[in-house]
Amino acid sequence: MPGDNLYCSLDVNLQEFAEQAAKKVMKAKNAKNVRIIMMNPKNGEIYAMVNEPEFDLNKPYEIAEKGTFSEKKKQDLLNNMWRNSCISDTYEPGSTFKIVTATSALEAGVVKKTDTFHCPGYKMVEDRRIRCHKTTGHGTETFVQGVQNSCNPVFIEVGARLGTPTFYSYIKKLGILEKTGVDVPGEAVAIMHQQKNVGAVELATMSFGQSFQLSPLRLLTSVSAVINGGTLITPHFGIQLESADKTVVEKLSYPEKKGIVSEKTSEDMKVILESVVSEGSGGKAAVTGYRVGAKTGTSEKLPRSSKKYIASTLGFAPADDPELIAVVLIDEPEGIYYGGQIAAPVISELLSDALPYLVK
Ligand SMILES: [Zn+2]
Repeated sequence: MPGDNLYCSLDVNLQEFAEQAAKKVMKAKNAKNVRIIMMNPKNGEIYAMVNEPEFDLNKPYEIAEKGTFSEKKKQDLLNNMWRNSCISDTYEPGSTFKIVTATSALEAGVVKKTDTFHCPGYKMVEDRRIRCHKTTGHGTETFVQGVQNSCNPVFIEVGARLGTPTFYSYIKKLGILEKTGVDVPGEAVAIMHQQKNVGAVELATMSFGQSFQLSPLRLLTSVSAVINGGTLITPHFGIQLESADKTVVEKLSYPEKKGIVSEKTSEDMKVILESVVSEGSGGKAAVTGYRVGAKTGTSEKLPRSSKKYIASTLGFAPADDPELIAVVLIDEPEGIYYGGQIAAPVISELLSDALPYLVK
């Protein structure tokens, strides 16, 4: 009704924390842009969403680029500036997607946590030699250590055990091929191989998060289902409509799908992802006094020859019963570009600010 107010999930304090953290790392790494989302993984309420550089809401028609532009060019520049890249743009997730592969493998029963693997620094797939990021190899490791080490050969093997039809069935179940249904327009859909075109090499690269793209919000929403006990939630901003005198006119509700993964797999994944922080490559996401789960990622942008990267980390806390999930993407950082080195500390910073405030 005209005059009603929409009560929104964005939290001024958390939004402020996220904006400060994004500005700080963008400057320190001289990055092209920084994206951050903070969400409640249990119900999909979006607490904060940042696309830095943001435009000034008071001067929405002021273009940062200098020069005189044609009307069309000007409109393109404005549209680009107004774009909500957390929702409307896709990227190659890299190793953060190993959460999806590991979840699928545990759920399908093709791997046990104690299964052992061997990484000599690469794995042959057909005639291709696919390297691990640790070129000297991780040696013998369990599945859990493979996740902690973010070891590509372990994930290639796990992907092969799953096989394309089973892997795709979990990718579908986790909602990856669909929009999240977030209550704002312009959502991008994942760019994924058609299942029939997936050979051994495509399956291998997909298993460690390469050769396809999705939006940051899509990844965050699917991982929420992994860590919340198996419910695929709809991320959203709108909470309720209130009349001018603050009476609730309508509480908004959003679709949920339960049983996406089993409670057991969800518990296992929380423990494994917590160990990525306590013992593995996500150590810099740690927060004193809190249990944190995380997975880092470093994606090489296309074309690979450009040597440009997106450093990212996805984290959640408290690890045993998550109240908050967050993702940070740093686009084209200069100097050190590894997610575990530069994005994980941002997750630590965000959680340090947010948890005392959020978890009473
Ligand atoms: Zn390895």
